[in-house]
Amino acid sequence: MSLKTDAIMKMLTVIGARPQFIKAAAVSRVLQTYPDVEEVILHTGQHYDADMSDIFFTEMGLPQPKYNIHVNGLNHGAMTGQMMEKIEEVLLVEKPDWVLVFGDTNSTLAGALAAKKLHIKVAHVEAGLRSFNMAMPEEINRLLTDRISDILFCPTATAMANLEKEGYESFPIERINIGDVMLDAAMMFEPQAKQPAGEIPDNFILATVHRAQTTDNAKHLSEMFEALDTIAAEQPVVMPLHPRTRRKLEEQSYNFANSPIHFLPPVGYLEMLWLLSHCSMVMTDSGGLQKEAYFFRKMCITLREETEWVELVDAGCNVLAGTELSDIIAAYHKVKSLRTQPSFDQHFYGHGHAAKTIASMLWQNA
Ligand code: UDP
Repeated sequence: MSLKTDAIMKMLTVIGARPQFIKAAAVSRVLQTYPDVEEVILHTGQHYDADMSDIFFTEMGLPQPKYNIHVNGLNHGAMTGQMMEKIEEVLLVEKPDWVLVFGDTNSTLAGALAAKKLHIKVAHVEAGLRSFNMAMPEEINRLLTDRISDILFCPTATAMANLEKEGYESFPIERINIGDVMLDAAMMFEPQAKQPAGEIPDNFILATVHRAQTTDNAKHLSEMFEALDTIAAEQPVVMPLHPRTRRKLEEQSYNFANSPIHFLPPVGYLEMLWLLSHCSMVMTDSGGLQKEAYFFRKMCITLREETEWVELVDAGCNVLAGTELSDIIAAYHKVKSLRTQPSFDQHFYGHGHAAKTIASMLWQNA
C-alpha cells in the first residue's frame, strides 16, 4: 500500500442498518479529530424510520448522510443490485480514497462491490466472522465482502484465524485484529445512557428477536415467543420490539394483549445501554447484543443454533439455546441455577481502541 501524500483524505462510509449506525458513530467521532479527513456518509435506506435510523444520527453525533439512496423493502437481489447502481453513481462523483463498510448486510456487500469495480479501496470493519451457515444471507455477504476488500479490520483472534484457514495469507489483503468497534461505542456512549420512558420492572431479562432466519420461520418464531411468554411469567422480560418481528407476530395473530412480556418500541442506543447495565441477563438472536451482554458482564442466552462469537460460548458467558421451546426454557433454568458466574475479564474484544486504529490506518494508507 502506498503512503498518504495528499493533504486531504476523503472517505465514503456506506451504512444502512441499525448496528452500522452505531459502529460508524464510534469511527466517525475519531475521524472528526483529524483536520485533514473528509467523511462522506451514504445511507442506503435499508433501515429508514425514526426509531431504527434517525435517532442514531441525532443521539450519537453521526454526521447527517450527504446521500440517502432509499433502497428498502426489496428481495435480496433487487436490493443489492439497486444499491450498487446508486452507490456507483455517488462514487463516480465523490471519488473517495476509501470506502468503509461495516458488518454483513446487503449494504455492506453493495458498497464493497461497487467500490471495488471502480478500483476504489475498500476497508471492511468486522471482517473474518463466520457462522459457517450458508443459509444466512449475512454469511454470504461476509464471505464476499472480505474477499474483495483491501484491508480487513477483524474484531477477534477467532476472526483472524478464520481468514487464515481460508487461505488469506496468499491474498494481497491486509488483515489486522483491532478489537471490536462495538466496545469502543459502548465505552464512548455509556456515560450518556438513559432510562427508556415508562416504568421498567426490576430484575428483568433484556430480550431482542429480529433476525430474518427467526422471524421468517413461523415455527421458530411461535416456539420462541411461547418460551419467552413462559419465562416472562416467572421473571420480567423487557423486549424492545423490532418492526419486522412485530409484523410477523401480527401475521401469526400473536396475542400481544395477553403476553406477560414488557414490550417497548425499538429504543435508541443510549436507552439500550441503560437496559444493558440494569438487566439481570440477556436473551437474543442479535449478533451485537451478545457482545454487549459481555461488556456489561451479563450472561447471554443466544436464540440461535450457532454464533459468530464462539469465544463467549467457550468462556461460559453465552449459552446457545437454539430456537425450540423446551431448549430455550432449559437454557434459562441452566443459567438461573449457575452457582458461580464465569469470568468476564478476558479481553476478547480489545480495549476500546478499534476506531482509533481504523482512522489512523486508513489515513496512513490513503
Ligand atoms: N439496539 C438498539 N435498540 C434496540 C435494539 C438494539 O440500539 O431497540 C442496538 C444494540 O444495542 C446493538 C445493535 O443495536 O448495539 C444490534 O443491532 P441488531 O440486533 O439490529 O443487529 P445485529 O447485531 O444482530 O446485526
